[in-house]
Amino acid sequence: MNIHEYQAKELLARYGVPVPDGIVCDTADQAAAAFEKLGAPLAVVKAQIHAGGRGKAGGVKLVRSAAEAREKAAAMLGKAMVTHQTGPEGRVVRKVYVTRGSDIARELYLAIAVDRATNAPVMMASAEGGVEIEVLAAERPEAIHKARIHPMKGLLPFQTRRLAKGLGLTGEQAKQGIKAMSALAKLFVELDCSLAEINPLIVTEQGDVVALDAKINFDSNGLYRHPDVAAMRDLNEEDPKEVEASKHGLSYIALDGNIGCMVNGAGLAMSTMDVIQLKGGRPANFLDVGGGATKEQVTNAFKILLSDTNVKGVLVNIFGGIMKCDTIAEGVIAAAHDVHLSVPLVVRLEGTNVERGRQLLEASDVALQTASSLDDAAEKIVALVGKAR
Ligand code: GDP
Ligand code: MN
Repeated sequence: MNIHEYQAKELLARYGVPVPDGIVCDTADQAAAAFEKLGAPLAVVKAQIHAGGRGKAGGVKLVRSAAEAREKAAAMLGKAMVTHQTGPEGRVVRKVYVTRGSDIARELYLAIAVDRATNAPVMMASAEGGVEIEVLAAERPEAIHKARIHPMKGLLPFQTRRLAKGLGLTGEQAKQGIKAMSALAKLFVELDCSLAEINPLIVTEQGDVVALDAKINFDSNGLYRHPDVAAMRDLNEEDPKEVEASKHGLSYIALDGNIGCMVNGAGLAMSTMDVIQLKGGRPANFLDVGGGATKEQVTNAFKILLSDTNVKGVLVNIFGGIMKCDTIAEGVIAAAHDVHLSVPLVVRLEGTNVERGRQLLEASDVALQTASSLDDAAEKIVALVGKAR
């Protein structure tokens, strides 16, 4: 799960990483009032969307008066902002964050990500902040200093000292930098994060180390331990189909192909997607309806699948283990009626009572094809929908 910059900064502040004062606003008038309230000569109006690259897209504006704050906020609010991370459709800006402006002497980079190679969180620091870290990693990987965070011992003093040196921090600034690093590591572990990034971490003209931007992602499996973090979820930033699916206990992830997949079991769902690809098609989604899918689950799943206008055909691949195939067949038939299915449907059933299930499908008035194997099913749906280009 992802959160907004203003929420991430609230967490950073809670752990002791200095952040500029700020006020989150829903309207342009609130932004003007926030400028007055901050009482600083310089403020920054920042679009709150779950994507980076806002600066280049006009989503970070320095302002010097309440009128200017109102004007910049009005230009962002209610509009879709397109950054290199949003895709061409962009993200609608529903909130802006008005922060006290900083005088920047240096922009640094500080982040923690989970490193698969070392099976541990790794802190990454670079003296070249503000830029896209992916570009730096590709072009000058030696400019990124790393420290593996021990799962039990945490980040150790010698590691933070070494990183501070890598950032070119000395004296009082090194002290502040080290404090920020330790706090970020503590936050990352305690809150079950999957990513915590401060880009840029700045040194101000006054010599203070401050987090100017923040991006934090959480492992959804750990959210039950952090109800305050879970409450920061913003459903506006998520795919509405995925939100709807999670309400019905369906594991659904939208993809960009045109063959809707309805499968029980995550492993079977993955292999179904692979076989569709192998046969030249492209899956429109990952969907696991669960082991004991009911008629209601199947109907809800159909509705969510078909709300994706890219879907030109549906492949149902269900193994009747806990549920019997004839029950599943009844569910598929009822659901197809319920949603007035208008795209081709291929159904492959296997497992208990499979013969009875197939008979029901073939005897029904739903225009569908049955398949005898996964290969057969994928070939049939790809033939009906057409191969992907
Ligand atoms: P992002 O583009 O979405 O990553 O947004 P950031 O919050 O990182 O802001 C982008 C850039 O705007 C930063 O790298 C800074 O150069 C600039 N910026 C943001 N806040 C301030 C500020 O308070 N003062 C100054 N001078 N520049 C700022
Ligand atoms: Mn940034």
